[in-house]
Amino acid sequence: MRWANQAISTEQSNSLTGLAKLSNVVRSVQTPEFAGITFHEVLAKTALNHVPGASNAMPFAWTINPYRGCSHSCVYCFARNTHTYLEFDAGRDFDNEIIVKINVAEVVAKELRTKRDRVPVVALGTNTDPYQRAEGRYRLMPGIIAALAEAETPFSILTKGTLLRRDLPLLVEANKRVPVSLAMSIAIFDDDLQQSVEPGTPTAKARLATVTAVREAGLDCSVFMMPILPHLTDTNAHLDEALRQIKAAGATSVLYTAMHLRPGTKEWFMLWLEREHPDLVEKYRYMYYGVNSYAPKEYRKWLAAKIQPLIRKHGLTRGHEDPTTGGVAAAPVRSFGYSQSKTDARGERMPLSPLIAEELPPTAAIAAIGAPTLF
Ligand code: SF4
Repeated sequence: MRWANQAISTEQSNSLTGLAKLSNVVRSVQTPEFAGITFHEVLAKTALNHVPGASNAMPFAWTINPYRGCSHSCVYCFARNTHTYLEFDAGRDFDNEIIVKINVAEVVAKELRTKRDRVPVVALGTNTDPYQRAEGRYRLMPGIIAALAEAETPFSILTKGTLLRRDLPLLVEANKRVPVSLAMSIAIFDDDLQQSVEPGTPTAKARLATVTAVREAGLDCSVFMMPILPHLTDTNAHLDEALRQIKAAGATSVLYTAMHLRPGTKEWFMLWLEREHPDLVEKYRYMYYGVNSYAPKEYRKWLAAKIQPLIRKHGLTRGHEDPTTGGVAAAPVRSFGYSQSKTDARGERMPLSPLIAEELPPTAAIAAIGAPTLF
Protein backbone atom coordinates (compact mmCIF):
# COMPACT_ATOMS: atom_id res chain seq x y z
CA MET A 1 0.00 0.00 0.00
CA ARG A 2 1.35 3.36 -0.96
CA TRP A 3 0.37 4.86 2.39
CA ALA A 4 1.98 2.20 4.54
CA ASN A 5 4.36 4.78 6.01
CA GLN A 6 1.46 6.73 7.45
CA ALA A 7 0.42 3.84 9.64
CA ILE A 8 0.39 4.71 13.32
CA SER A 9 -0.09 1.15 14.34
CA THR A 10 -0.62 -2.14 12.68
CA GLU A 11 -2.24 -5.32 13.90
CA GLN A 12 -3.69 -3.63 16.96
CA SER A 13 -4.68 -6.64 18.95
CA ASN A 14 -7.28 -4.72 20.97
CA SER A 15 -9.12 -3.65 17.84
CA LEU A 16 -9.09 -7.13 16.38
CA THR A 17 -11.46 -8.56 18.95
CA GLY A 18 -14.52 -8.00 16.79
CA LEU A 19 -12.68 -9.29 13.76
CA ALA A 20 -11.44 -12.45 15.38
CA LYS A 21 -13.76 -14.46 13.19
CA LEU A 22 -12.06 -13.16 10.10
CA SER A 23 -8.95 -15.19 9.53
CA ASN A 24 -8.06 -12.99 6.59
CA VAL A 25 -7.24 -9.71 8.35
CA VAL A 26 -3.96 -8.39 7.02
CA ARG A 27 -3.59 -5.46 9.38
CA SER A 28 -5.48 -2.62 11.06
CA VAL A 29 -4.37 0.90 10.24
CA GLN A 30 -5.00 4.45 11.42
CA THR A 31 -3.75 7.53 9.60
CA PRO A 32 -3.73 11.19 10.66
CA GLU A 33 -5.71 12.01 7.53
CA PHE A 34 -8.66 9.92 8.75
CA ALA A 35 -8.86 10.93 12.40
CA GLY A 36 -10.86 8.49 14.48
CA ILE A 37 -11.16 5.89 11.73
CA THR A 38 -9.49 2.49 11.70
CA PHE A 39 -9.17 0.59 8.47
CA HIS A 40 -9.10 -3.18 8.80
CA GLU A 41 -7.51 -4.50 5.63
CA VAL A 42 -8.67 -7.99 4.73
CA LEU A 43 -8.06 -10.44 1.93
CA ALA A 44 -11.51 -11.32 0.63
CA LYS A 45 -12.17 -14.90 -0.33
CA THR A 46 -15.25 -13.94 -2.36
CA ALA A 47 -16.46 -10.63 -3.71
CA LEU A 48 -19.62 -11.29 -5.70
CA ASN A 49 -22.55 -11.59 -3.28
CA HIS A 50 -25.65 -13.35 -4.44
CA VAL A 51 -28.84 -11.65 -3.22
CA PRO A 52 -31.50 -14.28 -2.69
CA GLY A 53 -34.99 -13.52 -3.94
CA ALA A 54 -34.13 -10.72 -6.37
CA SER A 55 -37.39 -9.13 -7.53
CA ASN A 56 -38.82 -5.92 -8.95
CA ALA A 57 -38.41 -4.37 -5.51
CA MET A 58 -34.84 -5.65 -5.27
CA PRO A 59 -33.87 -5.82 -8.93
CA PHE A 60 -30.28 -6.93 -8.49
CA ALA A 61 -29.22 -10.48 -7.88
CA TRP A 62 -25.50 -9.80 -7.52
CA THR A 63 -23.68 -7.11 -5.59
CA ILE A 64 -20.11 -6.12 -4.75
CA ASN A 65 -19.18 -4.25 -1.56
CA PRO A 66 -15.49 -3.32 -1.47
CA TYR A 67 -15.96 -1.88 2.03
CA ARG A 68 -17.94 -2.82 5.14
CA GLY A 69 -18.91 0.07 7.36
CA CYS A 70 -19.14 3.57 5.90
CA SER A 71 -17.53 6.81 7.01
CA HIS A 72 -20.33 8.78 5.37
CA SER A 73 -22.00 8.05 8.73
CA CYS A 74 -25.63 8.61 7.75
CA VAL A 75 -27.62 8.14 10.95
CA TYR A 76 -30.44 6.44 9.03
CA CYS A 77 -28.16 3.97 7.18
CA PHE A 78 -30.00 0.67 6.87
CA ALA A 79 -26.75 -1.33 6.66
CA ARG A 80 -25.70 -0.51 10.22
CA ASN A 81 -26.76 -3.79 11.72
CA THR A 82 -24.48 -5.77 9.39
CA HIS A 83 -21.54 -4.49 11.46
CA THR A 84 -22.76 -6.41 14.48
CA TYR A 85 -21.95 -9.66 12.65
CA LEU A 86 -18.32 -8.71 13.28
CA GLU A 87 -19.06 -7.84 16.90
CA PHE A 88 -18.77 -4.14 16.15
CA ASP A 89 -21.67 -1.94 17.14
CA ALA A 90 -24.18 -0.55 14.68
CA GLY A 91 -23.55 3.05 15.76
CA ARG A 92 -20.16 4.72 15.98
CA ASP A 93 -18.26 1.54 15.00
CA PHE A 94 -20.14 1.36 11.69
CA ASP A 95 -18.84 4.86 10.91
CA ASN A 96 -15.30 4.39 12.17
CA GLU A 97 -14.28 0.72 11.85
CA ILE A 98 -14.03 0.19 8.13
CA ILE A 99 -13.29 -3.20 6.60
CA VAL A 100 -11.35 -2.82 3.36
CA LYS A 101 -11.20 -5.75 0.95
CA ILE A 102 -7.86 -4.86 -0.51
CA ASN A 103 -7.84 -7.67 -3.08
CA VAL A 104 -11.46 -7.18 -4.17
CA ALA A 105 -10.77 -6.38 -7.85
CA GLU A 106 -8.59 -9.45 -8.25
CA VAL A 107 -11.28 -11.65 -6.68
CA VAL A 108 -14.06 -10.11 -8.79
CA ALA A 109 -12.08 -10.75 -11.96
CA LYS A 110 -11.42 -14.33 -10.92
CA GLU A 111 -15.06 -15.00 -9.98
CA LEU A 112 -16.33 -13.49 -13.22
CA ARG A 113 -14.11 -15.84 -15.19
CA THR A 114 -16.07 -18.78 -13.77
CA LYS A 115 -19.50 -17.27 -13.03
CA ARG A 116 -19.88 -14.82 -15.90
CA ASP A 117 -22.85 -16.60 -17.48
CA ARG A 118 -24.72 -16.63 -14.16
CA VAL A 119 -24.13 -12.96 -13.37
CA PRO A 120 -26.25 -10.84 -15.71
CA VAL A 121 -25.75 -7.56 -13.87
CA VAL A 122 -23.93 -6.38 -10.75
CA ALA A 123 -24.95 -3.57 -8.37
CA LEU A 124 -22.45 -1.51 -6.37
CA GLY A 125 -23.50 0.79 -3.54
CA THR A 126 -26.42 -1.28 -2.29
CA ASN A 127 -25.01 -1.88 1.17
CA THR A 128 -22.12 0.50 1.79
CA ASP A 129 -20.82 3.32 -0.35
CA PRO A 130 -18.06 2.31 -2.78
CA TYR A 131 -16.95 5.95 -3.10
CA GLN A 132 -16.73 6.68 0.62
CA ARG A 133 -13.61 8.59 1.68
CA ALA A 134 -11.46 5.47 2.01
CA GLU A 135 -11.69 4.96 -1.75
CA GLY A 136 -9.48 8.02 -2.23
CA ARG A 137 -6.72 6.04 -0.51
CA TYR A 138 -7.36 2.46 -1.54
CA ARG A 139 -8.52 3.06 -5.12
CA LEU A 140 -10.39 -0.24 -5.38
CA MET A 141 -13.10 0.86 -7.82
CA PRO A 142 -11.02 1.26 -11.00
CA GLY A 143 -9.97 -2.40 -10.85
CA ILE A 144 -13.56 -3.52 -10.19
CA ILE A 145 -14.91 -1.41 -13.07
CA ALA A 146 -12.24 -2.74 -15.41
CA ALA A 147 -12.90 -6.35 -14.37
CA LEU A 148 -16.66 -5.96 -14.96
CA ALA A 149 -16.12 -4.27 -18.31
CA GLU A 150 -13.61 -6.88 -19.43
CA ALA A 151 -16.06 -9.65 -18.50
CA GLU A 152 -18.87 -7.80 -20.35
CA THR A 153 -20.96 -7.68 -17.18
CA PRO A 154 -23.36 -4.70 -16.98
CA PHE A 155 -23.29 -2.86 -13.67
CA SER A 156 -24.80 -0.03 -11.68
CA ILE A 157 -23.26 2.28 -9.09
CA LEU A 158 -25.16 4.19 -6.42
CA THR A 159 -23.15 6.63 -4.32
CA LYS A 160 -23.06 9.82 -2.30
CA GLY A 161 -19.36 10.18 -3.05
CA THR A 162 -18.10 12.91 -5.36
CA LEU A 163 -14.98 10.79 -5.88
CA LEU A 164 -16.98 9.12 -8.63
CA ARG A 165 -15.70 11.94 -10.84
CA ARG A 166 -12.19 10.52 -10.66
CA ASP A 167 -13.37 7.41 -12.51
CA LEU A 168 -15.56 9.07 -15.13
CA PRO A 169 -13.14 8.52 -18.05
CA LEU A 170 -12.98 4.83 -17.14
CA LEU A 171 -16.76 4.60 -16.76
CA VAL A 172 -17.22 6.18 -20.17
CA GLU A 173 -14.95 3.51 -21.66
CA ALA A 174 -16.77 0.77 -19.75
CA ASN A 175 -20.13 2.04 -21.03
CA LYS A 176 -18.93 1.51 -24.60
CA ARG A 177 -18.58 -2.16 -23.76
CA VAL A 178 -21.44 -2.84 -21.31
CA PRO A 179 -24.47 -0.93 -20.00
CA VAL A 180 -23.42 1.19 -17.03
CA SER A 181 -26.01 2.85 -14.79
CA LEU A 182 -24.97 5.64 -12.42
CA ALA A 183 -27.02 7.18 -9.64
CA MET A 184 -26.25 9.81 -7.03
CA SER A 185 -28.03 9.67 -3.70
CA ILE A 186 -29.17 13.18 -2.63
CA ALA A 187 -32.16 13.53 -0.35
CA ILE A 188 -31.49 16.48 1.96
CA PHE A 189 -31.24 19.98 0.54
CA ASP A 190 -31.08 21.83 3.84
CA ASP A 191 -27.32 22.17 4.49
CA ASP A 192 -27.50 22.21 8.29
CA LEU A 193 -29.78 19.20 8.41
CA GLN A 194 -27.66 17.35 5.85
CA GLN A 195 -24.48 17.89 7.85
CA SER A 196 -26.24 16.72 10.98
CA VAL A 197 -27.86 13.58 9.50
CA GLU A 198 -25.08 12.63 7.05
CA PRO A 199 -21.99 14.14 8.72
CA GLY A 200 -19.41 12.33 6.59
CA THR A 201 -20.92 13.05 3.18
CA PRO A 202 -20.17 15.73 0.60
CA THR A 203 -22.72 18.57 0.46
CA ALA A 204 -25.80 18.34 -1.74
CA LYS A 205 -24.24 21.04 -3.91
CA ALA A 206 -21.08 18.98 -4.46
CA ARG A 207 -23.14 15.91 -5.28
CA LEU A 208 -25.27 17.88 -7.75
CA ALA A 209 -22.06 19.07 -9.42
CA THR A 210 -21.08 15.42 -9.75
CA VAL A 211 -24.40 14.67 -11.43
CA THR A 212 -23.63 17.44 -13.91
CA ALA A 213 -20.14 16.06 -14.52
CA VAL A 214 -21.57 12.61 -15.24
CA ARG A 215 -24.04 14.08 -17.73
CA GLU A 216 -21.32 16.15 -19.38
CA ALA A 217 -19.33 12.96 -19.79
CA GLY A 218 -22.26 11.64 -21.80
CA LEU A 219 -23.70 9.18 -19.28
CA ASP A 220 -27.15 9.07 -17.72
CA CYS A 221 -27.39 9.85 -14.03
CA SER A 222 -30.40 9.24 -11.80
CA VAL A 223 -30.86 10.83 -8.41
CA PHE A 224 -32.12 8.73 -5.52
CA MET A 225 -34.02 10.96 -3.08
CA MET A 226 -33.65 8.37 -0.39
CA PRO A 227 -34.68 8.57 2.27
CA ILE A 228 -37.35 11.21 2.65
CA LEU A 229 -37.41 12.01 6.37
CA PRO A 230 -40.94 12.38 7.78
CA HIS A 231 -41.61 15.86 9.18
CA LEU A 232 -38.11 17.01 8.20
CA THR A 233 -37.75 16.87 4.43
CA ASP A 234 -41.27 16.13 3.22
CA THR A 235 -42.67 19.65 2.90
CA ASN A 236 -43.81 20.88 -0.49
CA ALA A 237 -41.21 23.62 -0.37
CA HIS A 238 -38.31 21.21 0.31
CA LEU A 239 -39.40 18.65 -2.27
CA ASP A 240 -40.08 21.21 -4.97
CA GLU A 241 -36.78 23.02 -4.46
CA ALA A 242 -34.89 19.70 -4.32
CA LEU A 243 -36.40 18.57 -7.61
CA ARG A 244 -35.72 21.94 -9.19
CA GLN A 245 -32.03 21.67 -8.29
CA ILE A 246 -31.84 18.05 -9.40
CA LYS A 247 -33.34 18.95 -12.77
CA ALA A 248 -31.01 21.94 -13.14
CA ALA A 249 -28.03 19.64 -12.50
CA GLY A 250 -29.08 17.55 -15.49
CA ALA A 251 -30.27 14.36 -13.77
CA THR A 252 -32.21 12.02 -16.00
CA SER A 253 -34.69 10.67 -13.46
CA VAL A 254 -35.56 10.56 -9.77
CA LEU A 255 -36.48 7.73 -7.46
CA TYR A 256 -37.62 8.30 -3.92
CA THR A 257 -38.65 6.39 -0.85
CA ALA A 258 -39.71 7.23 2.69
CA MET A 259 -37.23 6.35 5.40
CA HIS A 260 -37.36 2.92 6.93
CA LEU A 261 -35.61 2.12 10.17
CA ARG A 262 -34.38 -1.39 10.72
CA PRO A 263 -33.31 -2.72 14.10
CA GLY A 264 -29.84 -1.43 14.89
CA THR A 265 -30.43 1.66 12.77
CA LYS A 266 -33.59 2.60 14.63
CA GLU A 267 -31.85 2.88 18.00
CA TRP A 268 -29.03 5.01 16.53
CA PHE A 269 -31.44 7.26 14.64
CA MET A 270 -33.66 7.78 17.68
CA LEU A 271 -30.64 8.88 19.75
CA TRP A 272 -29.91 11.47 17.10
CA LEU A 273 -33.55 12.56 16.99
CA GLU A 274 -33.72 12.95 20.78
CA ARG A 275 -30.61 15.13 20.61
CA GLU A 276 -31.44 17.23 17.56
CA HIS A 277 -35.24 17.21 17.23
CA PRO A 278 -36.78 16.15 20.54
CA ASP A 279 -40.13 17.58 19.45
CA LEU A 280 -40.38 14.84 16.80
CA VAL A 281 -39.59 11.86 19.01
CA GLU A 282 -43.18 10.95 19.80
CA LYS A 283 -44.25 11.26 16.17
CA TYR A 284 -41.46 8.92 15.08
CA ARG A 285 -42.18 6.45 17.87
CA TYR A 286 -45.75 6.33 16.63
CA MET A 287 -44.68 5.82 13.00
CA TYR A 288 -41.92 3.29 13.60
CA TYR A 289 -43.37 1.50 16.57
CA GLY A 290 -42.27 -1.93 17.80
CA VAL A 291 -40.51 -3.98 15.18
CA ASN A 292 -42.10 -2.00 12.37
CA SER A 293 -39.28 -0.88 10.05
CA TYR A 294 -41.28 0.82 7.33
CA ALA A 295 -43.13 4.10 7.41
CA PRO A 296 -46.87 3.42 7.70
CA LYS A 297 -48.76 2.73 4.48
CA GLU A 298 -50.89 5.86 4.98
CA TYR A 299 -47.74 7.98 5.17
CA ARG A 300 -46.28 6.39 2.04
CA LYS A 301 -49.55 7.05 0.17
CA TRP A 302 -49.59 10.64 1.43
CA LEU A 303 -45.99 11.13 0.30
CA ALA A 304 -46.62 9.60 -3.12
CA ALA A 305 -49.60 11.90 -3.69
CA LYS A 306 -47.39 14.86 -2.84
CA ILE A 307 -44.14 14.03 -4.63
CA GLN A 308 -45.23 12.26 -7.77
CA PRO A 309 -46.89 15.33 -9.35
CA LEU A 310 -43.74 17.31 -8.51
CA ILE A 311 -41.50 14.69 -10.16
CA ARG A 312 -43.70 14.90 -13.26
CA LYS A 313 -43.69 18.70 -13.13
CA HIS A 314 -39.89 18.74 -13.20
CA GLY A 315 -39.68 16.14 -15.96
CA LEU A 316 -37.86 13.60 -13.80
CA THR A 317 -40.17 10.61 -14.12
CA ARG A 318 -38.41 7.30 -13.87
CA GLY A 319 -37.57 5.71 -17.18
CA HIS A 320 -35.44 6.41 -20.19
CA GLU A 321 -36.63 6.92 -23.72
CA ASP A 322 -35.05 4.53 -26.15
CA PRO A 323 -34.13 6.57 -29.22
CA THR A 324 -34.03 3.44 -31.35
CA THR A 325 -37.53 2.24 -30.47
CA GLY A 326 -39.24 5.30 -29.00
CA GLY A 327 -40.17 3.09 -26.04
CA VAL A 328 -39.53 3.78 -22.41
CA ALA A 329 -37.64 1.33 -20.22
CA ALA A 330 -38.06 1.31 -16.48
CA ALA A 331 -34.68 -0.24 -15.71
CA PRO A 332 -32.00 2.40 -16.19
CA VAL A 333 -29.26 -0.23 -16.28
CA ARG A 334 -30.37 -1.22 -19.74
CA SER A 335 -28.73 1.82 -21.26
CA PHE A 336 -29.28 2.71 -24.84
CA GLY A 337 -26.99 3.09 -27.76
CA TYR A 338 -25.15 0.02 -26.49
CA SER A 339 -24.79 -2.85 -28.86
CA GLN A 340 -25.59 -6.13 -27.18
CA SER A 341 -23.17 -7.73 -29.61
CA LYS A 342 -20.08 -8.88 -27.76
CA THR A 343 -18.12 -9.37 -30.95
CA ASP A 344 -17.12 -7.10 -33.76
CA ALA A 345 -18.15 -7.48 -37.42
CA ARG A 346 -15.59 -10.27 -37.91
CA GLY A 347 -16.94 -12.20 -34.94
CA GLU A 348 -13.99 -11.35 -32.75
CA ARG A 349 -14.27 -10.07 -29.16
CA MET A 350 -14.23 -6.32 -28.85
CA PRO A 351 -10.70 -5.27 -28.00
CA LEU A 352 -10.15 -3.71 -24.59
CA SER A 353 -9.61 0.03 -24.52
CA PRO A 354 -6.16 0.98 -23.15
CA LEU A 355 -7.78 2.64 -20.13
CA ILE A 356 -9.62 -0.54 -19.11
CA ALA A 357 -6.60 -2.73 -19.84
CA GLU A 358 -4.46 -0.48 -17.63
CA GLU A 359 -6.80 -0.83 -14.65
CA LEU A 360 -7.31 -4.58 -14.86
CA PRO A 361 -5.96 -6.52 -11.90
CA PRO A 362 -2.76 -8.34 -12.92
CA THR A 363 -4.09 -11.90 -13.32
CA ALA A 364 -7.17 -10.64 -15.17
CA ALA A 365 -4.94 -8.65 -17.50
CA ILE A 366 -2.90 -11.74 -18.28
CA ALA A 367 -6.07 -13.75 -18.94
CA ALA A 368 -7.53 -11.03 -21.16
CA ILE A 369 -4.47 -9.85 -23.02
CA GLY A 370 -2.12 -12.77 -22.63
CA ALA A 371 1.16 -13.12 -20.80
CA PRO A 372 3.94 -10.90 -22.12
CA THR A 373 6.29 -12.67 -24.51
CA LEU A 374 9.84 -12.73 -23.35
CA PHE A 375 11.47 -13.44 -26.68
S1 SF4 B 1 -23.58 6.64 2.25
FE1 SF4 B 1 -24.99 4.91 2.14
S2 SF4 B 1 -23.81 3.22 2.98
FE2 SF4 B 1 -22.78 5.07 3.63
S3 SF4 B 1 -23.59 5.55 5.64
FE3 SF4 B 1 -24.80 6.68 4.12
S4 SF4 B 1 -26.54 5.37 3.66
FE4 SF4 B 1 -25.00 4.10 4.65
